[in-house]
Amino acid sequence: MSTAKIVVIEDESDILELLEYNLSKEGYKVVSARDGEDGLRKVRKEAPDLVLLDLMLPGLDGIEICRRLKADPLTRTMPVVMVTAKGEESDVVLGLGVGADDYVTKPFSPKELLARVKAVLRRGPLKEERSARERIQRGGLVIDASRHEVKVDNEPVPFTATEFRLLHFLAAHCGRVFTRDQLLSHVVRGDALVIDRNIDVHVRAIRKKLGSQRELVETIRGVGYRFKDAGE
Ligand code: CA
Repeated sequence: MSTAKIVVIEDESDILELLEYNLSKEGYKVVSARDGEDGLRKVRKEAPDLVLLDLMLPGLDGIEICRRLKADPLTRTMPVVMVTAKGEESDVVLGLGVGADDYVTKPFSPKELLARVKAVLRRGPLKEERSARERIQRGGLVIDASRHEVKVDNEPVPFTATEFRLLHFLAAHCGRVFTRDQLLSHVVRGDALVIDRNIDVHVRAIRKKLGSQRELVETIRGVGYRFKDAGE
């Protein structure tokens, strides 16, 4: 049982009830809002551990709410999970672009939703700065940031600086989906040496080098890329 507090912003009564019921059953404390203004007010008042945010809302929509939450130092680190209708991939890209941490697509099963919520809570807020000495190991892959070294099945594999930074960034935030623009801004930051600004080209090269571990870097169709979550 969890005691985390979740603010749910959703205008459709049946979906709101479904969310309230399933989250409460898991032990979460749920505070509900049916429109954007009320949602923002409740998030500021309750300081929840997570915000579950519907995209299509009367008044302020989900994108605008997310943008405001991520612009406010008081609420910036709060994880936001967007609830979006099926096929609205451009909305997902927009939502991730304004800082949402993850998304679920309607119609979703309660089990799927709870798994996402649990994963985002476990992950905590996005850590912008990771230790430069960090060593990440997953299956047959080892990424050693201090040595700038990648090993696949115990064999060192040469990576370019850009490929290394991209792989390390994805792996350090495993389970989180990033758009190509987000990846570009993280990887290219202050680096004039990056010749190819096409993220897909770098990902293709990374996958080739990862060989047996290539499936750790996943394509999320219409959205971007993510490194497989530790629990999967
Ligand atoms: Ca709605």
